[in-house]
Amino acid sequence: MLLRMSSLFLRTLRDDPADAEVPSHKLLVRAGYVRRVAPGIYSWLPLGKIVMENVAAVVRDEMNKMGAQEVLFPALLPREYYEATGRWTEYGDTLFRLKDRKGGDYLLGPTHEELFTDMVKGEYSSYKDFPVTLYQIQTKYRDEARPRAGILRGREFVMKDSYSFDLDDDGLKRSYEQHREAYIKTFDRLGIRYKICFATSGAMGGSASEEFLAPTPTGEDTFVACHSCGYAANAEAYTTTPPASVTGEHPALEVLDTPGTPTIESLVACMNSDHGMAITGADTLKNVVVKVTTPGSTKSEILVIGVPGDREVDFKRLEASLAPGEPAIFEEADFAKNPGLVRGYIGPQVLKDLGIRYLVDPRVVSGTSWVTGANEPGKHARNVVAGRDFTPDGTVEAAEVRPGDPCPRCGSEVSLDRGIEIGHIFQLGRKYADAAKLDALGPDGKPIRITMGSYGVGVSRAVAVIAEQWHDELGLVWPREISPADVHIVGTGKENQVEKALEIAAALEARGVRVLVDDRPSVSPGVKFKDSELLGVPTVLVVGRGLSQGLAELRDRASGEKQEIPIDEAVERIAALVEGPAA
Ligand code: ATP
Ligand code: MG
Repeated sequence: MLLRMSSLFLRTLRDDPADAEVPSHKLLVRAGYVRRVAPGIYSWLPLGKIVMENVAAVVRDEMNKMGAQEVLFPALLPREYYEATGRWTEYGDTLFRLKDRKGGDYLLGPTHEELFTDMVKGEYSSYKDFPVTLYQIQTKYRDEARPRAGILRGREFVMKDSYSFDLDDDGLKRSYEQHREAYIKTFDRLGIRYKICFATSGAMGGSASEEFLAPTPTGEDTFVACHSCGYAANAEAYTTTPPASVTGEHPALEVLDTPGTPTIESLVACMNSDHGMAITGADTLKNVVVKVTTPGSTKSEILVIGVPGDREVDFKRLEASLAPGEPAIFEEADFAKNPGLVRGYIGPQVLKDLGIRYLVDPRVVSGTSWVTGANEPGKHARNVVAGRDFTPDGTVEAAEVRPGDPCPRCGSEVSLDRGIEIGHIFQLGRKYADAAKLDALGPDGKPIRITMGSYGVGVSRAVAVIAEQWHDELGLVWPREISPADVHIVGTGKENQVEKALEIAAALEARGVRVLVDDRPSVSPGVKFKDSELLGVPTVLVVGRGLSQGLAELRDRASGEKQEIPIDEAVERIAALVEGPAA
């Protein structure tokens, strides 16, 4: 491959795009890799296209090595497949729905479990056919609520999705492990730093699930990490360790005047000054009201969530816990319609009578005693005992996780970090096979229900994640396998430098090296150097002033190291860098 910048369809930009906040977005636009078309919708220019294909090639290679087979489904799909599994409605506003000329309902595929299941059902029928794993690399569509950061969270994006089909749970576990191994190899080759985190399965249903998160300060996912035992989990999947249940007598519930104390802070201050207590927020029970809708239904349910008062409700955790139910904030108008719920003074004592479900943080175990609302303006109650004065309808993982909270595995203190999800593997189980009645005929003639796994890699997102982790203040710094070229040859000077650069480029190309050569006639050396830094090819060869003495300059983009080399050695030196040390 030889790309000549004199004709390459590329314009680099001096300034960051106005809408860009994260480094990868700024750099990929400035370096002419992508261009915005609409929110979350991007075009790929030649260099960007090459980088994405390079990422896809690594993903494909590792999938093939694992024994998965590549197929390709349409992105435009009829409603019926998604209707059968309930996802036509469950997907909510994230699904792009459209109609054909006859009024038939269609969608743009956000992920393809239904189609893969149906295809396997159509082709395979005997237990001898299984297991099988299929994958595709394809464009997906999701009408994301907050498309952001360029191609990091798009509404149109490229995903590798694969699906495993097994006869039994052990088989599924094996397929899952194979994917996990393949993902480790893939992300290692892509040069991405990542953490494998326990995850919740969300709207997909199913059980065991892990996410590959790339730690970056700009990530949208928060993950909990334990540096003692290596436990890592998406904040949504972190599980609170409940204290042992408490036994013993408590004084009777007592209602107290606490005027003007709708917040935990004001309540704690009032209890300690006016009622002789010595409590903190952790001794209070905060009750947060939400309304929960199920996609496809117009009715919503009122739900009260009880958490220790020193913690906020983390809405993402709450959403994950209630999925596919969707919680929303209980507004002023909702309170007006429900006078039994006294804003700022809600206590769980009355919820049974009001017919409202009450879910509590796992720390609210039976026998614990709390200060909480007394369901009258300006009044709170103390000695409100779980299991005596109220009985929750269940527990919910909704309270925020904080650094220093206990690791669910070893009890050490955890830390909280931010990351971007680059891959997701999970054991779906039989949800989709049940919906499609996907069976194999067993050796005894009896049907065996197939069990499935589903596995995704964000191919276009990976391009942004690599850019996020591999850049400096000058521009991009691609790992070689991903880079649009192995070497960027800059020919600059008024003598025969450009000719010489082209000559070296041709010789390298003949050796199988991928070359980008800057042969632009009337562009200053300064601009050419800046572009080579911005574009991020790992090796740069400058054919410039030294040419008359038979010298060229070899630069390493990552370290910034420069060395003069005899120009006659350039081809050998670069080919050796690219081919790596001889085995
Ligand atoms: P996220 O939590 O980031 O929204 P997700 O859990 O919805 O992702 P999956 O359904 O697991 O994503 O999709 C598999 C992979 O596809 C993800 O791991 C991610 O790398 C990628 N991906 C998902 N949504 C997007 C998007 N909007 N833009 C780019 N890549 C995406
Ligand atoms: Mg996911």
